[in-house]
Amino acid sequence: MELRDLPSVDELAADERLASTGPRVLVIAAVRSALARAREEIQAGADPGDLVGRVEVELAAARGPRLRRAINATGVIVHTNLGRAPLAQEALERVTAVARGYSNLEYDLGAGGRGSRQDHVAPILRRLTGAEAALVVNNNAAAVLLALAALAEGREVLVSRGELIEIGDGFRIPDVLARSGAHLHEVGTTNRTRAADYERAIGPETALLLRVHQSNFRVVGFTEQPRLAELVRVGRAHGIPVVDDLGSGVLVELEDEPSARDALAAGADLVCFSGDKLLGGPQAGIVVGRGELVERLRRHPLQRALRADKLTLAALEATLALYLDPERAAREIPVLQMLAEPAEAVRARAEQLAGLVGGDVEQTVGRVGGGALPLAELPGFACSVEEELAARLREADPPVVALVRDGRCLLDCRTIAAAEVEEVARAVTACRS
Ligand SMILES: *Cc1c(COP(=O)(O)O)cnc(C)c1O
Repeated sequence: MELRDLPSVDELAADERLASTGPRVLVIAAVRSALARAREEIQAGADPGDLVGRVEVELAAARGPRLRRAINATGVIVHTNLGRAPLAQEALERVTAVARGYSNLEYDLGAGGRGSRQDHVAPILRRLTGAEAALVVNNNAAAVLLALAALAEGREVLVSRGELIEIGDGFRIPDVLARSGAHLHEVGTTNRTRAADYERAIGPETALLLRVHQSNFRVVGFTEQPRLAELVRVGRAHGIPVVDDLGSGVLVELEDEPSARDALAAGADLVCFSGDKLLGGPQAGIVVGRGELVERLRRHPLQRALRADKLTLAALEATLALYLDPERAAREIPVLQMLAEPAEAVRARAEQLAGLVGGDVEQTVGRVGGGALPLAELPGFACSVEEELAARLREADPPVVALVRDGRCLLDCRTIAAAEVEEVARAVTACRS
């Protein structure tokens, strides 16, 4: 085929196979892009093949959703790039029920007038954490920003040099502090900070002591960080609140992850954590603590800009309700269920998948992810297949995201749900042909 043999945009768009394929703007855009690629191929000496077929493929891609479900075959449970926590069935149902029609989002049904969106989730958060008050915003970065802006704008915040962390994608505690209008005052050293370092640094401008969970890294060896209770003692002696950014926000006992209840019991005045890390709910930032401080956050103008929407609040309330019965939470919240699943059960799925696709079962080490328990290793199992499949599986529908190790593509079954095994098998088979 020569360049001059290519049809015009209108000619190609008029092909009867494209007649009922959707809105004309999409068809024209797909035709243009198919023709542009055909031109490049002809110039490179190749034959562009069936142009109408190409337009159909482009159209299908343009019409399909860009944000879509994916299968997590990485073994990292709270995978930030893959949307963190999958929601529990209960949470999904609540979202649908609340979003389908109107809701009492900001309506007080008893009084028949304006209510607050914060009133729905606060009671259960108080119950689960023992806090006096609670507030929900869009994510934990927003919660920290709001706490600093409301309590320390124009004044100083003391932070240990061992906690000036970057969490991922450029979220750095010192930058958030700067944006809040507070001034960072570093204390201690990278590996060792003592309560006395805070004590010495306190001055007339000190508004807050901020403790930040180290999240995704650990300093090992010659290290020291004061216990929260020691920090609280320093804060109390000087009348300065202690804010504890917990990061992942577990509500159950989980290794050495601090829970909000523990932090409040140790005397923290405010505690901030994420809704979609170990808590296993929707993206949200949760602040719990002393009523008078939470009220200052609630009244701050940034609160209006950072507030959570009704879908988030619906999913969060339903997720939190599951925690009222810890056994039910362990069973029904996917993050908790995956964390606790015995390696043998993971192996059974890996064997099933290997049987379906003719792969090998290999031992793996799963990760919690999401900046929690960075050193925790979850023994797991994967089905391994040919390395070249890794890239093709990402193009499958639904896409399957796997890891490559030692020249093999590993489909880690800790994060592949039982209901997804056959889907993954079909994707592997399709990618081979
Ligand atoms: C993850 C994390 C954050 C940010 O939370 P998002 O909900 O992702 O905004 C803040 N602080 C710590 C310690 C974290 O681990």
